[in-house]
Amino acid sequence: MTPVTTFAHRSVALFGLGGSGLSTARALIAGGASVAAWDDSEAGRAKAEAQGVTLVDLTSADWSAFDALILSPGVPLTHPKPHWTVERAHEAQIEIIGDIELFCRERERHAPGATFIAITGTNGKSTTTALIAHILRRAGKDVQLGGNIGTPILDLEPPSEERIHVIECSSFQIDLTPSLAPTIGILINLTPDHIDRHGTMDDYAAVKERLVDGADIALIGVDDVYCHAIGARLTQAHCEGQRVIPVSATRALDWGFYIESGKVIYRQSGHGPEEAETLGDLGDARALRGAHNAQNAAFAAAAVWHCGLNCEEIADGLADYPGLPHRMEEVGRRGRVLFINDSKATNADAAEKALLSFDDIFWIAGGKAKEGGIKPLRPLFPLIRKAYLIGAAAQDFARTLEGAVAFEQCGTLDRALARAAEEAALSDAREPVVLLSPACASYDQFANFEARGDAFRRLAQELHATRDAGE
Ligand code: ADP
Repeated sequence: MTPVTTFAHRSVALFGLGGSGLSTARALIAGGASVAAWDDSEAGRAKAEAQGVTLVDLTSADWSAFDALILSPGVPLTHPKPHWTVERAHEAQIEIIGDIELFCRERERHAPGATFIAITGTNGKSTTTALIAHILRRAGKDVQLGGNIGTPILDLEPPSEERIHVIECSSFQIDLTPSLAPTIGILINLTPDHIDRHGTMDDYAAVKERLVDGADIALIGVDDVYCHAIGARLTQAHCEGQRVIPVSATRALDWGFYIESGKVIYRQSGHGPEEAETLGDLGDARALRGAHNAQNAAFAAAAVWHCGLNCEEIADGLADYPGLPHRMEEVGRRGRVLFINDSKATNADAAEKALLSFDDIFWIAGGKAKEGGIKPLRPLFPLIRKAYLIGAAAQDFARTLEGAVAFEQCGTLDRALARAAEEAALSDAREPVVLLSPACASYDQFANFEARGDAFRRLAQELHATRDAGE
């Protein structure tokens, strides 16, 4: 845990008692702060009480007693309208901050030289964060991984000179972190998302820009218009001591980190193309299939290069990265047939990335449909040998596939997997793929996308075991 000492002997209001809220309460108390915690949900309050956190009904509390409001990132600051705690904090003229801000202040106070890598972007945050941590760890570095992925930041070990914190940041978290100034700031990409919460695309991009704006080394994508503009702006502003470095997955750059012929390349500023270094070959990296993962790999390589790793350490780390569960996760092989769990693909955009990564696809799709269904995937239909439809979206998806792709109504995941496995085994393709990339939320049949992916993995492994037993 990282005890928060910057609020010692002071009083704070804390709203939101999920995983990160509880961890923040513990860290503040351990550092000597007095915490008045509250959550609208009774379950959240009960959990906090069980852990000895003092509950104070903030609706009727005296807000003049508080020095700050520590807010959970899930609570709206502005859109669609500010949460009532935000209005109270404004009236009391106290700051509104989150757990990453508390961490930044501890780092500034106790270990200002500690390496802090912060990662954001619309897509690929978790993969890039986990990949950086993996490469650093296997090179023997002391790494702490968390933030928006896995462990809340204040549950991690405290910052120190020899330790590297690798932290995924959502836009909501950045909003609550005014002194964000990482050693290495990463902005992977920006596409319209979460606009409901930020109001406009410009507001959303401005929040993301803050993460790289304050970084000593800013690694910024140049493959989309929003990031490109941010990179150009920061380069022009040229803050003292800051380095802005471009990263591309789609073209060779005059300088920076990029992907060329499936390899991660670094060309230093002022160097010719013949002097560019190869940092890794994605052909060796089974868990980094697809152009989107090439982008994540380019950023990870850039980050760890700046931590002092050599080409060999980077190449080896990329090659044996095991991947994250539910994101194009290889869960088994039966003869030539490969089984891929991409349950995290809850919309057409994410499913598109998976479909683009394989050739002979026996596609399991459906669930609780999102706006637009699978219509945007029409150009990729030729890659699909057959679709196996499940869940509430099945009828709608069938109408879109009609006449273009063979499909079958399967109802449930176990039926779909059995049918897809059976037919994929008869395929003459070199490597037929049974792909769960549903382009839908899971709530109609599962508790969440993790439960759906776990079920797929278990079923695929059972198939495998059946075959082994039969041999
Ligand atoms: P995030 O943490 O930003 O949600 P993840 O790394 O968990 O991102 O990946 C989630 C899904 O987003 C993946 O299954 C894939 O479909 C898609 N994705 C991953 N990386 C990228 C990228 N660099 N660009 C576009 N889409 C991506």
